[in-house]
Amino acid sequence: MHWKLNLLAGLCGVALIGAMFFFIPEPAATSNLQFSSLPQKTPPATKHLRPKAHLQVAPAVYNIKEGVLSHRTLYEALTSCEIPPSEVLSLSRSFRPVFDFRCAKPKDIYRVSLNDQNEIQKFVYKTSLTDEYEAIKKKDGSYTVQKREIALDKTVISKVFTINSSLYQAVADFGESQRIAGMIADIFAWDIDFYTAPRKGDRIAVVYERFSRNGHFVRYGKILAARYETDQKDYSAFLFNDGHFDNYFDENGQPLKNMFLRSPLKFGKMTSGYSIRRFHPICKRYKAHTGIDYGSPTGTPILATANGKVTFAGWKNGYGKLLIVRHPNGYETYYGHCSRLLKKPGQLVEQGQVVARVGQTGLATGPHVHYEVRIKGTPVNPNNLKKTRVTPLRPSLMAKFKKVVNERTLLVMNALREKAKLVNRPTETESLDSVRKKA
Ligand SMILES: [Zn+2]
Repeated sequence: MHWKLNLLAGLCGVALIGAMFFFIPEPAATSNLQFSSLPQKTPPATKHLRPKAHLQVAPAVYNIKEGVLSHRTLYEALTSCEIPPSEVLSLSRSFRPVFDFRCAKPKDIYRVSLNDQNEIQKFVYKTSLTDEYEAIKKKDGSYTVQKREIALDKTVISKVFTINSSLYQAVADFGESQRIAGMIADIFAWDIDFYTAPRKGDRIAVVYERFSRNGHFVRYGKILAARYETDQKDYSAFLFNDGHFDNYFDENGQPLKNMFLRSPLKFGKMTSGYSIRRFHPICKRYKAHTGIDYGSPTGTPILATANGKVTFAGWKNGYGKLLIVRHPNGYETYYGHCSRLLKKPGQLVEQGQVVARVGQTGLATGPHVHYEVRIKGTPVNPNNLKKTRVTPLRPSLMAKFKKVVNERTLLVMNALREKAKLVNRPTETESLDSVRKKA
């Protein structure tokens, strides 16, 4: 009798495993993602078909299922491998604070480890090369969920771009992404107008970080140093942390950045300027306009124009939804008529960070941001502040800064020298490693 039961159980087990192996994913189910290590081998079926009472410890992992989500919900994907629905629901509930499966994408991949009751023991979910989540079952049936720390490989690269028509074209010619061009333009934006200034033959040497994983490019890091050479003048930039923020300085420690961005919108069109007296379209009378209006569709991101701390976020009379940021030296910036405020009082914001969205709350005839700057409470014309630079480096930091300048200047100059040799081979690029070996 006993052997018959065993045989029956064995057959069922084989059938179950067969079903698992013959589970064929949909043809469209492909993804470039991979898990960091290989799945464990499925142990032989017999090992796990002992009666339950013999198990003294937690049941060993019985089977590992993995696949691409494809155009299914996680619920569909997991219940299709016979996992009880209650298990899947408990899993996604535990996941919610860390990752919401309503944001899942078809290329996401999963790996689930099951015990012999087809209950989830461990679950790993991967949404990109760097985003991987892991859930481990607890005694009460819920899960401990955490985002896995993924270590990236950092390389420091030096490259020289020669301008033929534009900065963007030069960067693209050398197989680099427009992101690098944008970063270079941001660094020198205060001194060079990249729409008009670059001339054929100008050279830009850049030392920057690049992050990868298993040989796959993940993202760029920061530009550590850059040098823009023209016929007339050379501009240098060195990244340095002054104890609060990362900033770019020239070789003498003078900041490259102005304290304020020109406008709180990336591509804002000024629709009404700063004036002591103007006819107000809603109030139908002459009133001072103590700021600048930039028209843009509702929802356009509003950027903090300078580093600072949010002091007010809420409704204020004609301003509608208003955000106020306090900056060093008694400055404040106001962003009015917003549709959404994305920061709360007390939060630190960096120059260029998105803090709110354009709207037409309060007294406004159309979607725009009312941008105002005050010094010790008195409004001033933002256009007069364009040249205000951020504070230069403290003298106490100069020795450390000079060391950074010397190291990175060497990299920049080596890259330029190598480039001069390779002038007929424009696709040749220089990595830091090779520069180091030669240096
Ligand atoms: Zn206004």
